[in-house]
Amino acid sequence: MSIVGQLYLLQTIDLELQRQRDQLERLRAGLGESPELVASRAELLETERLLSRRESQERDLEWDLKNLEDKIKVLEDKLYGGRIGNPKELAGLAQEVEMLKRSKSKIEDSILSCMLELDERRLAFKARKTELEGRERAWAASLLLLRAQVEELEATMAGLRGQRTAVAGGLDAEIVALYDELRQAKGGRAVVRLEHDVCTGCHLGLPSADVQHVRVSAGPVKCHHCGRILYAGP
Ligand SMILES: [Zn+2]
Repeated sequence: MSIVGQLYLLQTIDLELQRQRDQLERLRAGLGESPELVASRAELLETERLLSRRESQERDLEWDLKNLEDKIKVLEDKLYGGRIGNPKELAGLAQEVEMLKRSKSKIEDSILSCMLELDERRLAFKARKTELEGRERAWAASLLLLRAQVEELEATMAGLRGQRTAVAGGLDAEIVALYDELRQAKGGRAVVRLEHDVCTGCHLGLPSADVQHVRVSAGPVKCHHCGRILYAGP
């Protein structure tokens, strides 16, 4: 194979490597958790936080209720125990019991509505948990698939790098350096085909003397419009 033919092959390998590198980057970007999964987890935490706050409020209310019941019992024992004969004192006690019972009834109402709300919150929590678990399973499955794709891609790239080393090793270091420099400067395409006397890098026609020079020269010949190496081979 001619020198330019080998350079053209080197470029084919380099372009393929670049394509695979881009694909690998895209795959690796997908290895992180999706925004939906992150949001789903945050939502569940928030639901759990609200649930436990409400549960602790309910416990406080139960505690208040218990205190009130104890107080009422003490007062009722006094009221009906027969040890107090003073009607005024008895009336005062009865009034106090009445007041405490009203408070008790309010607390019981609050406990009831708290329990209803807790039922709803527990259901919401369960639903969100199920949703999150589903998302986590889907994510784990897609992660496995992605990892397999990454591994496959890495293996292909290792093969390509091996090919590149072999091809570059058969060329003069100076020529490879010229190619690498051009590749950097020309967006990855240092060697372009000459088709119908036109450079496919810049799409400009070349004089027939130049075309002839490209065809017979043993070394690289550059397009005098765009500076790329011209390849007239198959
Ligand atoms: Zn050109």
